[in-house]
Amino acid sequence: MNLMAEQVEALTEYKGPATMEKLVSLAKRRGFVFQSSEIYGGQNGAWDYGPLGVELKNRIASNWWKEMTQLHDDIVGLDAAILMHPRVWEASGHVENFTDPLVDCKKCHARFRADMIPPENLAAKTCPDCGGELTDTRKFNMMFKTHIGPVEDTSNTIYLRPETAQGIYVNYRNIIQSNRMKLPFGIAQIGKAFRNEIVTRHFIFRTCEFEQMEMQFFVKPGADIEWFDEWRKRRWAYYERLGVKPEYLRWHQHGVDELAHYAKDAYDIQYLYPMGWQELEGVHHRSDYDLKRHAEYSGKDLQYIDQDNNERYIPYIIETSAGLTRTLLMVLCDAYDEEKVADKGNSDDWRTVLRFHPKLAPITLAVLPLMKKDGLAELAQDIKNELKEDFTVDYDQGGAIGRRYRRQDEAGTPFCVTVDYESKEQRTVTLRFRDSMEQIRVPIAELGERIRKEIKQYKRTK
Ligand code: ATP
Repeated sequence: MNLMAEQVEALTEYKGPATMEKLVSLAKRRGFVFQSSEIYGGQNGAWDYGPLGVELKNRIASNWWKEMTQLHDDIVGLDAAILMHPRVWEASGHVENFTDPLVDCKKCHARFRADMIPPENLAAKTCPDCGGELTDTRKFNMMFKTHIGPVEDTSNTIYLRPETAQGIYVNYRNIIQSNRMKLPFGIAQIGKAFRNEIVTRHFIFRTCEFEQMEMQFFVKPGADIEWFDEWRKRRWAYYERLGVKPEYLRWHQHGVDELAHYAKDAYDIQYLYPMGWQELEGVHHRSDYDLKRHAEYSGKDLQYIDQDNNERYIPYIIETSAGLTRTLLMVLCDAYDEEKVADKGNSDDWRTVLRFHPKLAPITLAVLPLMKKDGLAELAQDIKNELKEDFTVDYDQGGAIGRRYRRQDEAGTPFCVTVDYESKEQRTVTLRFRDSMEQIRVPIAELGERIRKEIKQYKRTK
């Protein structure tokens, strides 16, 4: 398959208005993301999702879930435990191979992933920060280890899962039996994963605690290449449908030295974040590695019984693995815009706007009474109560209307409904669109239907 055929020419460097500093500050100011345990100075590698952040995260997750399960007859869902039998991680190869190469600077004590510093520094063993001498590279296992039960010894070691995929593999047999699945079929799962990352950097991009959205697709050996191509196509199309700027997306195929221990072939969908091109999602050909190893370590027969062809074999697996929290960062970056809207020479000339797809926006619409008095607030409350069954609705009656629009723009609210004096007499309201700032008059009775239609038809124009 020619992957490039469906791709517009990708940018070479980030030229958008977002910076990590701006995003971190907006995320905190508006309650998307807070530093974990902030009052104690913060906890590295962990972040908390505030009122808008959790809504956004839930929407991204439910959008992915719908795409993967509801829209695919051959994919079912799963929610496996984070704590798994420690043998799982021996079988999967994580105990032995899930390592990052680590180097320290003897002078400034900075710590680096050896594969992430310039090769010339690594070769000369000099620190990229201070020029000091680097230690030899050593392997560092990224799994978090703890103990289950009251006694801390090696017999009760347990790991926090570093990927959700293994929960799927160990349930593959259960699901075939309980749901009578036939190849090809997939199992989707969203959940937390934990990695003891050497360097956590770039806000929520790389963290020690994060969430993954993974789907493992089980296929007959021989059909694997075709399905691998197919899933790359589908995952690319998914981001296009979400309205992600196409020139900010590109493919990256793993070189032989980049391939994970289980992978036969692997492609990443990369996104152009403000700090550069980085992996957003991996589409991996995992061959029969995982199931074979689990069959060997568990002693259970994990062959698929292909009754149609009277054959038994271990299926091949095509994996699509996206970070939920990393997708959230992508959505924030992609939505972030600064726009000049006036020419008065003051700070009101510019607005910060998050151009979320309305399907993902944490607040779908805000109801704003022009005045608190003369029954406008009551009417606005009635409208809010009517619509909140179907949409996430915010209500804001404080301050000048222009300021309130700006607040909603910054939260990424795609629609504002303004209740004014005409609303009382004519039973109509103003519907304001976030992206164009255009305003139209809509009968109150038609509001819900109109918003539903706008969400369905939404196309990003800016
Ligand atoms: P990287 O090379 O960036 O360390 P990886 O290749 O190890 O990532 P995978 O094991 O393929 O990542 O994980 C699948 C997805 O999970 C990634 O595409 C990413 O979106 C997400 N992910 C992985 N590690 C992290 C992390 N530390 N923080 C947030 N998301 C992560």
